[in-house]
Amino acid sequence: MTWHATALTLFPEMFPGSLGLSLAGRALREGRWRLDTVQIRDFAVDKHRTVDDTPCGGGAGMVLRPDVVDAACEAALAQGPGRPLVYLTPRGRLLDQALVRELATGPGAVLVCGRYEGLDQRVIEARGMREVSVGDYVLSGGEPAALLMLDACVRLLPGVMGGVDSAEEESFSASEAPLLEYPHYTKPAEWLGRTVPEVLLSGHHAAVARWRREQAEAATRERRPDLWARREPQRIAAAGLAS
Ligand code: SAM
Repeated sequence: MTWHATALTLFPEMFPGSLGLSLAGRALREGRWRLDTVQIRDFAVDKHRTVDDTPCGGGAGMVLRPDVVDAACEAALAQGPGRPLVYLTPRGRLLDQALVRELATGPGAVLVCGRYEGLDQRVIEARGMREVSVGDYVLSGGEPAALLMLDACVRLLPGVMGGVDSAEEESFSASEAPLLEYPHYTKPAEWLGRTVPEVLLSGHHAAVARWRREQAEAATRERRPDLWARREPQRIAAAGLAS
């Protein structure tokens, strides 16, 4: 079955955006995945097509109405039922490769893009939306977050990326204990006085693999101590099992 994404948005013209280009765009045209949009405003109930209202309790900004968003969700699910509803929000769990992999191996997703101050909490709960953040910063709308999430999912779909090996080796690919990837080099062997590490030119596959592993571990330890700390209990457990 084709992996099917639907974006619920006030700005459908933002899709497919960059996903209409390169590998994801080709895969879209080849029917390896499908992308629909639902215009939230089409489900407004008044003649002014209002989708938002002032926050209960006061404060700045506007909030998207639950009845309008709910009707838009219904329409999206009618296009393809059984897909998880994902609300992109800074309040959500951080998107990581494990969640990307989980979504990419499912039937697809309905991506709810907030605007203004976001959605009324009741529709998030009533629809059982999964709340997902793309980072600890605030965007002006959920659309760039949805595109980012889709990009990460689509490249994992069968037949979308050329080299399966590169998806397996890259940063975060080991789901239990992710490592950042090792650095890459190509030709020329010397550029502006900087040389490619000798081992990469040696043709010695085991030595190359060892060097890459060491580089990946060093980069993770140095740049992402949070990821490195997640590896430690596993390393201790693995050592315990081995002894
Ligand atoms: N008032 C919200 C808050 O402080 O959490 C921010 C609302 S933001 C201006 C408007 C919309 O952008 C949100 O409803 C959400 O859909 C999207 N958005 C903003 N930052 C995001 C992030 N880091 N991850 C995912 N979606 C985000």
